Amino acid sequence: MKIVLVEGDITEQRVDAIVNAANSSLMGGGGVDGAIHRRGGPEILEECRALRASRYGRGLPTGQAVATTAGRLPARWVIHTVGPVYSRSEDRSHLLASCYRESLVVADALGVGTVAFPAISTGIYRWPVEDAARIAITAVRRAAPAVVEEVRFVLFNTAAYAVFDSALRDIG
Ligand code: ADP
Repeated sequence: MKIVLVEGDITEQRVDAIVNAANSSLMGGGGVDGAIHRRGGPEILEECRALRASRYGRGLPTGQAVATTAGRLPARWVIHTVGPVYSRSEDRSHLLASCYRESLVVADALGVGTVAFPAISTGIYRWPVEDAARIAITAVRRAAPAVVEEVRFVLFNTAAYAVFDSALRDIG
């Protein structure tokens, strides 16, 4: 499985599945989540409502992942995962790693070849990007999915791209 970095907007990626940095309500929000629902159209939110009415009555727990179709987006699937809010007093790294691992389990189950991730938790949830990049790349490397051939990290600005690039060089 190869790891590719691009600077850009995740909603424009031509991949099989994009990952949404959702919140546990699955009802949309700001950042990546807002962009995905805006560009993907109402179909995604309808499927999220159905998930809330069935499997996830209390919301999607932090660190877990679930797929919907992708509405009008170029991708075929959206994999929703809930990153942890950064805390200086409590180490929540395992939950952030879990987002990447569980999203890849879902992607493998869907049988997809290419998956794009945003830098989960580094926006509204305030995770420092250097630390988040290290956790993300390590988790993806360790996951070694059976079917997924390419993991693409889509970084929203040049600074985040540079941080991920450096972490990828360090970790390999
Ligand atoms: P979280 O709540 O998990 O922190 P956010 O969506 O607020 O999620 O931010 C996660 C990261 O995604 C941030 O680094 C933010 O700059 C970036 N981001 C925001 N919009 C997009 C987009 N359309 N495509 C890719 N990355 C994005």
